[in-house]
Amino acid sequence: MSIAAGETAVVDGVDKDLYIGGAWRPAAEGKRLPVYDPSTERELCSVADASPADGIAALDAAVAAQPGWAAYPPRERGEILRRSYELISERVDELALLMTLEMGKPLAESRGEVAYAADFFRWFAEEAVRIDGGYAVAPKGGGRFLVARQPVGPSILITPWNFPMAMGTRKIGPAIAAGCTSVIKPAAQTPLSMLALAGILAEAGLPDGVVNVVTTSDSGGVVEPMIRDGRARKLSFTGSTGVGRKLLEQCADQVLRTSMELGGNAPFIVFDDADVDAAVDGAMLAKLRNIGEACTAANRFYVQSGVAEEFTRKFAERMQAQPIGRGTEEGVVIGPLIDSAAVDKVTTLVDDAVERGAVVRTGGSTIDGTGHYYRPTVLTDIPADARIVSEEIFGPVAPISTFETEQEVLGRANNTPYGLVSYLYTGDFDRALRVSEALEAGMVGLNQGIVSNPAAPFGGIKHSGVGREGGTVGIDEFLETKYVAIGLREQP
Ligand code: NAP
Repeated sequence: MSIAAGETAVVDGVDKDLYIGGAWRPAAEGKRLPVYDPSTERELCSVADASPADGIAALDAAVAAQPGWAAYPPRERGEILRRSYELISERVDELALLMTLEMGKPLAESRGEVAYAADFFRWFAEEAVRIDGGYAVAPKGGGRFLVARQPVGPSILITPWNFPMAMGTRKIGPAIAAGCTSVIKPAAQTPLSMLALAGILAEAGLPDGVVNVVTTSDSGGVVEPMIRDGRARKLSFTGSTGVGRKLLEQCADQVLRTSMELGGNAPFIVFDDADVDAAVDGAMLAKLRNIGEACTAANRFYVQSGVAEEFTRKFAERMQAQPIGRGTEEGVVIGPLIDSAAVDKVTTLVDDAVERGAVVRTGGSTIDGTGHYYRPTVLTDIPADARIVSEEIFGPVAPISTFETEQEVLGRANNTPYGLVSYLYTGDFDRALRVSEALEAGMVGLNQGIVSNPAAPFGGIKHSGVGREGGTVGIDEFLETKYVAIGLREQP
């Protein structure tokens, strides 16, 4: 089959309606939402465009399914996740192609994301049967404490476009494992991966109504009534800090449990005592994974003066050599950014830095023609007031500054309202521990340019969020703790 025919086949293979109560149905008002390929700007297909009434219908289905799902044996919940993991794993290539078509990332990265997404299901299949409780004698004797973990209840799950499948399985996996039903709303730009996932969950035997998928061009209009309705008990959101803040305000009204995976502004620090080649390898990963469109992307590079020129030269050479093109083409590393607004934002940040005195070592421009491409870029001599060090770039641009002392770089690295991840390269063990502890971030990549792992607790502090996804704590976000005080009568 030719690539083009394969592309059509994977797009055609996805149900494009709303998935509510185990059935595929069009939006109540019959509206459709176009989905575009960011590399060709061509319309791939259209999906149902839900109205607020459709959102409430999805919530109705989740609420109706909740009691039965909470009572479902944990082992069977786990088995459904395990089967879903296996089905995704069997279809990595077609799911990866679908993801590349709607999001733009190169096929190799899409395959990586599909495998990563599936791994959350495998991990939470294993966690489903490890929800434990407690039994204790009251400190004064006599009474007993029984502590149980129960599902939070119907949950609203909202995911961004940059990781269209993994950000979903990271929420759906623990929700299913914990016994929570959900309504998931993927980003309007990348709904297809989530719709494909819904089909797989159904095939794996997930009962009707446990997971419902609503695609819409009116995210605010559809989500707010679901939050204000009062029957949902949880919101788990991944996206920008601005939208997260707005949703937190709405959730306050209903006192909803919330998990917030928000924006980042990761520092990447290289000390003089680091292995410079390893640091360049790590920088390539931390900067170019997902074309720089990752919350974990290294946003600011701080290199100690003794190795600054060597690091910058080697890093700029590697950045310049990356093949750019459509994600479906063999060997491409840099695909298109998601849309023209993303390119405009990157352009504005680079231009602002250059106007204030930054030097372009490589890149620094868009690519003419169809598709939203920006060249891998390395900037040096970054002025402290440049917007690029305080705003999320979300593109393949690396601003490098130099520093002299550990204290100085810690002050600069922590000088941000964000606190998702920080990267640190050093060969000194004491410094590694000292700096890892002092960095204000939920995660630290120590001599490593990538931190994501389903078995590890992912999440941020400060304006980067609340709560953790993955690891042994990931399921806690979907569980309430219930304590039963037992009055024990003396033996008659
Ligand atoms: P976004 O604009 O905040 O959108 C995220 C999701 O929220 C999308 O599904 C979006 O739908 C929806 N949304 C937008 N406005 C909404 C509203 N008023 N009410 C309810 N839902 C609403 O973020 P993005 O630009 O897609 O994603 C990039 C951001 O996500 C970056 O800041 C990145 O750092 C962050 N992110 C964080 C993590 C993490 O784990 N910490 C992971 C990945 C990404 P529509 O797009 O359809 O409007």
